[in-house]
Amino acid sequence: MASKYQAPRGTFDVLPEQGRARARLEAAAREVFARAGYEPVATPAFEDTDLFVRGVGRSTDIVRKEMFTFEDKGGRSLTLRPEGTAPICRAYLEHGMHKLAQPVKLAYVGPFFRHERPQAGRYRQFHQLGLECIGADSPLADAEAIMLLSDLLGELGVPGVELRLGSLGSLEARRGYLEELKAHLHAHEGELAREVRERIDVNPLRAFDSDDEGTRAVMASAPTIVERLEGEDAAHFAEVRELLDAAGIAYEIDPALVRGLDYYTRTIFSFVCEELGAQSEVGGGGRYDGLIEQLGGPATPAVGWAAGIERILLALGEAEEPAGRDAFVAIADEGQRRRAMALATELRRAGLSAEVDLAGRGLKGQLKHADRIGARRVVILEADGSAQLRDMGSGEQRPVESGNLVEEMTGGES
Ligand code: AMP
Repeated sequence: MASKYQAPRGTFDVLPEQGRARARLEAAAREVFARAGYEPVATPAFEDTDLFVRGVGRSTDIVRKEMFTFEDKGGRSLTLRPEGTAPICRAYLEHGMHKLAQPVKLAYVGPFFRHERPQAGRYRQFHQLGLECIGADSPLADAEAIMLLSDLLGELGVPGVELRLGSLGSLEARRGYLEELKAHLHAHEGELAREVRERIDVNPLRAFDSDDEGTRAVMASAPTIVERLEGEDAAHFAEVRELLDAAGIAYEIDPALVRGLDYYTRTIFSFVCEELGAQSEVGGGGRYDGLIEQLGGPATPAVGWAAGIERILLALGEAEEPAGRDAFVAIADEGQRRRAMALATELRRAGLSAEVDLAGRGLKGQLKHADRIGARRVVILEADGSAQLRDMGSGEQRPVESGNLVEEMTGGES
């Protein structure tokens, strides 16, 4: 029964098969966040457009071409959030969290929107889970953030994950380097892709991300910021590396690693799964010491990351098996409907998964349905008020005292 309506381009429906795997992933993430003291937060799906223009940066691909921007009835420009860090920093300032004991450790899960060319692993509405540690400049905070994403991917069993690590230095230190990089790019202008050439002075770092062959050749001989790190920047990066070494987390220094958002400073990292092909990054992030000040707050160091839920699910490959049910409450007689509902409710309150027939099937149909949904045991309520308990694995059936049903079912005996 196809209708003429379809999910919009670049979006998708989550059907139960994928919904189960998602729920498991989100539960694992919430566990990882909670165990390390990252508290759950949520911000609106849209914000004032200016928050992203200022926060993410005017020269970024996101702001230049990927935002879903619209006007509300009062003529204000709003944008569906393309990323989570600027909104969380906005909330941090709006709610005076800079007055709390620092750092403030926050975690989130939710939908994000970018008007990108859809392909496998790249959508216009996608979902991220992520964390932000705001108010700590210690390399410990960078290392902790990286370890938590590493642990989460490990716990989920994402195969073939590699960690790439880099550092962009502090904003002041970067200025000198950027001049050097621009000079290198100008010297090779003729060999660069047009897009890169046009943006040499706006966003030279993005040249490292180009797929264009000529540009790549130019970048192979470009100076890298990792080689130019000095003083506190170099010491900070060295300590992040030592902490990861001590934790046994393998990484590769990637001097060409730049991330597509303007706000990063010092540590940046990316977890990739090559098996995913073109869209191989499952998650990444870094330090953004200048962002909160950029948004009008006090100078506040911070570090965070976001991981793509769809990418992780793609990397995991297999769909989650149906969970089955602990119990199905069947009725041998129409008159037992209320009793069945009451028993299922009681079983659910006791922590079991239990269902009743909602489609008016006869007893035979109910047993067939119970089998189909993977019920391990079926309670059959008889017309005379008695009850039978059927083990769906062995097919064994025996009478049970009605008053003992819940105890019998929760007692673990099957
Ligand atoms: P970013 O916010 O760009 O640093 O991205 C963080 C993570 O979100 C990436 O590593 C991806 O896993 C995921 N991601 C970013 N953009 C998309 C997209 N358009 N579709 C699906 N996942 C995405």
